[in-house]
Amino acid sequence: MRYISTRGGLAPLPFSDTILMGLAPDGGLALPESYPKVGRAQLDAWRGLSYADLAFEVISLFADDIPAADLKDIVSRTYTAEVFGSADITPIKRLHDGLVILELSNGPTLAFKDMAMQLLGNLFEYVLEKKGEQLNIVGATSGDTGSAAEYAMRGKHNVNVFMMSPAGKMSAFQRAQMYSLMDANIHNLAIEGVFDDCQDIVKAVQNDHAFKAKYKIGTVNSINWARVVAQVVYYFKGYFNATDSNDQKVSFCVPSGNFGNVCAGHIARQMGLPIERLIVATNENDVLDEFFRTGVYRPRASSETYITSSPSMDISKASNFERFVFDLVGRDPQQVRALWAKVDSGEGFDLSAKLAEVRERFGFVSGKSTHQDRLDTIRRVDAEDGVVVDTHTADGIKVARDVRQPGEIVVCLETALPAKFADTIVEALGKQPPRPAGFDGIEDLPQKVTEFGANAVGEVKAYIERALSA
Ligand SMILES: *Cc1c(COP(=O)(O)O)cnc(C)c1O
Repeated sequence: MRYISTRGGLAPLPFSDTILMGLAPDGGLALPESYPKVGRAQLDAWRGLSYADLAFEVISLFADDIPAADLKDIVSRTYTAEVFGSADITPIKRLHDGLVILELSNGPTLAFKDMAMQLLGNLFEYVLEKKGEQLNIVGATSGDTGSAAEYAMRGKHNVNVFMMSPAGKMSAFQRAQMYSLMDANIHNLAIEGVFDDCQDIVKAVQNDHAFKAKYKIGTVNSINWARVVAQVVYYFKGYFNATDSNDQKVSFCVPSGNFGNVCAGHIARQMGLPIERLIVATNENDVLDEFFRTGVYRPRASSETYITSSPSMDISKASNFERFVFDLVGRDPQQVRALWAKVDSGEGFDLSAKLAEVRERFGFVSGKSTHQDRLDTIRRVDAEDGVVVDTHTADGIKVARDVRQPGEIVVCLETALPAKFADTIVEALGKQPPRPAGFDGIEDLPQKVTEFGANAVGEVKAYIERALSA
């Protein structure tokens, strides 16, 4: 299997090269030349597999340049009860009205990003060792992604992480999660300012091409192809867990921001997993809901992005959306280039002529949830089912209940645990969310973090240079 760019300017690459690449050199995103197809016989053979064995089967369709024995070793070291809290890895629970919750947040940072990032850490270590290369990840985070990356890369050979976060802007829990890591290859840089100030420094470092080449600087953002592939696995697992037979169909409801999670659902559906509908749930930042209702994609500026109580979905330009649009326009890179030229000029684009195809051929539908909906849903699920859900998962449950049809099996993806968003849980329920075992007193652990002013590009570069020559 080889990988091409949505913008047509990439000579086809094998999997191992694709996963080390951020954006393709032409500005596009990597996708396989065609999706592997999974037939009924394969579904029947896969239904009883453990998570790690299923992950091996699915990922080997995409990563065919990694010898089977090596890939088997990588996935079995990744998806363990020790890391994900149970042998099931992604168990389900059913609410009283039949809605299924697929638990994806029992990993080390209590959000679904661990599902992909833990695999990425082991894949990076393996591929870098084979190539005799090093990778120094420079990133910015306002919470979930940065901590998932640090927990995935800690202690890995040939990988260092330099993660910038806005000083004083994350919750005490989130700070403790990141800053308490003492591994020598993990560096926390607290920047005076907001998330955008951190992002500006990352961009300045990335744009210094000489520095970037000399110090092997890379990223691990949500467009990374290995992350998408790793996420495809739990759509298969969720389907098997929620059904009794491969004659059934399910729909998935996905709290969405960058469209990375639901993009994996789209790929699973293209592969032949019996998915009825893909339900995209947004918060007040509803650029995706607007597209799936009207066919018009109108990304907003960061000044028009609301800060909400489901902060990991506060995104107004969905980076992975380009992968779906590539399929929607018949995999024509010229059309994708033209559409994204409009996006870059701030104009957006209108594909309303294709709306019927979006719904019927690709199965997409969407809905939106607000702060009040979130509070109501958290209260209702707690009262009716005795389950405390996090704010992002609540957005998904709200939208799933809005659009669900009689007889439809809807699986809601749980994207985080409530312990990460305690303030809103207290606002909704008047009580603290449950804390998983092992997280008590995490705020009291010693912390390792270096502070920088805003615009401290030179100081950050000097810090990276010093750390890498130590
Ligand atoms: C990242 C994240 C999302 C959004 O996922 P995308 O892949 O960006 O659509 C939703 N909920 C939580 C808790 C997240 O961390």
